[in-house]
Amino acid sequence: MIISIASGKGGTGKTTLATNLALSIGKCQLLDCDVEEPNSHIFIKPRLIRSRSVSLPVPKVDDKKCTYCGKCSEVCQFSALAVIRKNVLVFQELCHGCGACSILCPVDAIWEVEREIGVMEIGQAGDVHFIHGLMRISEAMSPPLIKAVKNEAEKDMVTIIDAPPGTSCPVIEAVKDSDFCVLVTEPTPFGLNDLVLAVEMLRILEIPFAVVLNRSDVGDDKVDEYCEKEDIPILMKIPMDRELAEAYSEGIPFVEAKPEWKEKFADLYNNIIRMV
Ligand code: SF4
Ligand code: SF4
Repeated sequence: MIISIASGKGGTGKTTLATNLALSIGKCQLLDCDVEEPNSHIFIKPRLIRSRSVSLPVPKVDDKKCTYCGKCSEVCQFSALAVIRKNVLVFQELCHGCGACSILCPVDAIWEVEREIGVMEIGQAGDVHFIHGLMRISEAMSPPLIKAVKNEAEKDMVTIIDAPPGTSCPVIEAVKDSDFCVLVTEPTPFGLNDLVLAVEMLRILEIPFAVVLNRSDVGDDKVDEYCEKEDIPILMKIPMDRELAEAYSEGIPFVEAKPEWKEKFADLYNNIIRMV
């Protein structure tokens, strides 16, 4: 069972939901795939077991063999290669490491070198097996690192994925293959706007989903109205609560600050199981 936690925009409480859910359901694993800004570890506080570098194979061109035919730049879907007069320019930051250019080079002038894009850390906190990716500063492309984090996960274990915010490639890489996705939002015009985009994304991906409304007692009723109209279940409402906000600012999960929330998150999990 893979449950991803996503949101159309940042700052809605996605990590709060992912971490508290993981801490409330017994043995499970939490993958923090928000690799540009991972912060689940602040709440989970895992004991680090191991780490490893994650890299991508990127092309290098042998000028002595190259005939400057341009086939490599034609095949590259990501504009990571350009042949300009007697020069092959490689833009490593754009390369997805697909290997197409080296396979198609007619004179074997391309070989591959590894380029580090980030680091993966694996740890344990009580019943929670924890993995997160840390993207290298100045790196532009997070999907390969997200993919590496997911590949490192234990199979056949209940898995919670803390996805990056938004609706672009990194989110799709994080949520695809999920059995269920929870969209976290807030009752504001921005929250609704980004929720609509996230709903469209999940419908295209054909992933079942529901909504959790954070800071549910501020803002307006538009998100409720939208969910009712679209027949989208709202599985939980988390009110604005000063004590919870203070706990959050100190890196203390809800379920530790207010243990009665543990049952609510366990109920949320059981509802998801029923829906799947
Ligand atoms: S495909 Fe090979 S030979 Fe042609 S430009 Fe690229 S590296 Fe050079
Ligand atoms: S490995 Fe793939 S993405 Fe990278 S330069 Fe070659 S064709 Fe482009």
